[in-house]
Amino acid sequence: MNLIKHCTDQCWDILANVADPEIPVLSILDLGMVRGIELNADEEIVVRLTPTYSGCPATDLLKQQISEALHGAGFSPVNVVVDLSEAWSTDWMSDSGKTKLKAYGIAPPGGDAHSCGSHMALTDGIECPHCQSHDTQLLSEFSSTACKALYRCQSCLEPFDYFKCI
Ligand SMILES: [Zn+2]
Repeated sequence: MNLIKHCTDQCWDILANVADPEIPVLSILDLGMVRGIELNADEEIVVRLTPTYSGCPATDLLKQQISEALHGAGFSPVNVVVDLSEAWSTDWMSDSGKTKLKAYGIAPPGGDAHSCGSHMALTDGIECPHCQSHDTQLLSEFSSTACKALYRCQSCLEPFDYFKCI
């Protein structure tokens, strides 16, 4: 058995249980924030993390949660490195993450970021996560956080957040 692979596989399993501080139904793996886990020559576990938004105040909390989760499972030392070489994109969100987001009442990002671009125009007609109607209206480009827009469904009359494509 390849011990290094076994060790990093276990780390991936552990991090699948670390929740996103902003959307607790999603794990950091659902969001695709963990870019890599390696064991370096000093036998240190290096976790490369790309936060969903740079300058996100949750980044320090996330680093702490990752370290604590791995320490709790007996992995030490752990070094969480913030990797900003590529900006996080909604393209990295897993399909199961999108499904969980929808079940939570937030419309998942539609399409891929490359086709909608970073300044995608928000349009009416985003699918309602409650009743799947497309008869929906944009109320505000910014909702509880800058990454979400606020919509209202004309069919079930429920407001909902849409996770913008970035
Ligand atoms: Zn609806």
